[in-house]
Amino acid sequence: MSSPRSRIAAHIRDIPRSGIRDFFDIVSTMKDIISLGIGEPDFDTPWHIREAAIAALERGSTSYTSNLGLLSLRQAIARYGERVFNIHYKPENEILVTVGVSEALDLALRAIIEPGDEILYHEPCYVSYAPVVIFAHGKPVAVETRAEDGFRLTRAQLEAKVTPRTKALLLNFPNNPTGAILEPHDLREIADFAIQHDLIVLSDDIYAELTYDGRHTTIASLPGMKERCIFLHGFSKAWAMTGFRMAYACSTPELIEAMMKIHQYTMLCASIISQEASVEALTDADADVEEMRAEYHRRRNFLHNSFKEMGLPCHQPRGAFYAFPYIGHFGLTSKEFALRFLDAEKVAVVPGTAFGECGEGFIRCAYATGMEDLQEAMRRLARFIHSLQPNARPQPNAC
Ligand code: PLP
Repeated sequence: MSSPRSRIAAHIRDIPRSGIRDFFDIVSTMKDIISLGIGEPDFDTPWHIREAAIAALERGSTSYTSNLGLLSLRQAIARYGERVFNIHYKPENEILVTVGVSEALDLALRAIIEPGDEILYHEPCYVSYAPVVIFAHGKPVAVETRAEDGFRLTRAQLEAKVTPRTKALLLNFPNNPTGAILEPHDLREIADFAIQHDLIVLSDDIYAELTYDGRHTTIASLPGMKERCIFLHGFSKAWAMTGFRMAYACSTPELIEAMMKIHQYTMLCASIISQEASVEALTDADADVEEMRAEYHRRRNFLHNSFKEMGLPCHQPRGAFYAFPYIGHFGLTSKEFALRFLDAEKVAVVPGTAFGECGEGFIRCAYATGMEDLQEAMRRLARFIHSLQPNARPQPNAC
């Protein structure tokens, strides 16, 4: 009889578990930890959005919806896209409501990948990207971004990795875990690259509202991009709605139809209660989003100044709610640093290697945590690094 492990499909068996989950299994066994670990807003979902969910239940909205999602929600998504991002998608056939950006990513990749197709993505990045490409029998091809470039992605880096098998490029700015953004001229270069090599662009804009030095531009809004872009966005971050599991994909009717077929046979539809709440989120929550963004901005400034004061090089995060300081000069790996910091000071941060090999030498600190805890965490971090090697100096070009 075959061994239980050998019965698992090789492409699933060989994928390591998420580094974040393993680390937080350890954290969950400990008491009184300050966590800068999980990328989840510390705010409650605004009350009127929760009320919309309650009202949906009271009305008896407990059924399936159209596979694409409620038309009223798709209309609200179309209006929001025009108003905020200058993108134009038809509610009837260019928008698909999904169970988180997680599902949208999976559908998009499964819809486009033939076995062996290569998908370019930049590292450090969100932990799911390479695994979901592999689940779809594609080949993830990482393009390293570097602290000294502000973790921007450039056309030259992409040109070095593109091959005749490259099918698509996966982008995420504002970025998890670095907080990097791309300027419109960076996006234009990348759009030209995608057009020249005839690539599909999956643009994960989940942190679009959380920028601190100007408004976000999505690559999907640039001329020539609508026909090759899959725009992915969701409610988890800026609306603090992680548990609602709500997101959407916008693209051409052909790509949306292909994604919808997989969604139809595997998920059927997103929860109607969450969909009703999301209509409220898109139509009447700009002020709530702005209030949360302003608080993240305040925390971003505090964290960045704290790192500066303690001599930790850190690229200024310009979006999302993560900072990615350099700790490589202390002679510990990222994992050793995070484990020893947790053990000594009871503060959880994520080793940079959870986001790709080039995250070695960095830690991710999420500032989706209240200001008092952040202040205490920074006091403890200063004490910890002082105890390590008071004379350690950062490498000159670390950030
Ligand atoms: N994309 C990025 C870049 C993320 O950071 C996350 C969550 O951390 C997701 C997607 C998943 O989001 P969702 O809750 O919509 O599935």
